[in-house]
Amino acid sequence: MAAPNPVLTVDLEEWFHVCGHPLYGDPARWDGFPSRVGPSTELLLDLLARTRSRATFFVLGWIARRHPSLLARIVREGHEVGCHGDLHVRADEVSLDAFRADVRAGKAAVEDVSGRAVTAFRAPEWSLRRADSPALALLVEEGFTVDSSLQAVPPIGDRGNPTRPTLLHTSPGPILEVPPLVGTFFGFPAMLGGGWTARLSRESRVRRAMAAASESGIPAVLYVHPWEVDPDHPAMELSPIPRLVHFAGRGRVLPRLARLCEATPTVPLSAVVSGAARGPREAPGVAA
Ligand SMILES: [Zn+2]
Repeated sequence: MAAPNPVLTVDLEEWFHVCGHPLYGDPARWDGFPSRVGPSTELLLDLLARTRSRATFFVLGWIARRHPSLLARIVREGHEVGCHGDLHVRADEVSLDAFRADVRAGKAAVEDVSGRAVTAFRAPEWSLRRADSPALALLVEEGFTVDSSLQAVPPIGDRGNPTRPTLLHTSPGPILEVPPLVGTFFGFPAMLGGGWTARLSRESRVRRAMAAASESGIPAVLYVHPWEVDPDHPAMELSPIPRLVHFAGRGRVLPRLARLCEATPTVPLSAVVSGAARGPREAPGVAA
């Protein structure tokens, strides 16, 4: 039987969108940094077009306002658009009102520029953290039906978070959580759908995690950032741990993605949503 198509998601942001950093975390400085999101995203789009792959792009409102032609290409080539917030704000570091204002501004900007309704969300830096986050109800109230922000990997997320598409119930209504691929890294739960643990893992380990997920009926949801594939990424002022998280293993990302897409074209999140709508497992004990 042919391998199921992996789900590819792209967080559409600049290389300097690093939450909480004294230099890069300040939106007032962002227009002073060289923009790289255009050429790096075009490398991804060229690969996806060549391999007949599709993806869901979680777009920052800030990016949508500055790069309308990039969004136009994404839509024209059949990809989906979701929302990554407006100014890359971590949900767990601001008030719910402030988070709502950022989500609302981001969704409005992405819809306005793309001309598409936006109903899928990914929080900056996995900052919803837990399946009982009050931000999930807020997302329902703001018109989202799908979220892909929960990692079942501490300390980024919680071990109790879903590891498969799961309908979460909140007081204003349900939202379908579609979490990224989780595997193991030296015996510990690890994010293998993307990020530094995936980049530093052997490709065979990631492929085994994808195969194990599909054997359990779980779609392999992968994620990538344009800056991870940028051959001309600007130098950054980062301390050692953030430097590792940002840069380690970056050179592997594009060739690995190319091998994957050539073997099995990727699909956007809606491919999972339509399947999950036939009977997602519900999460017990999720706060109403
Ligand atoms: Zn981000």
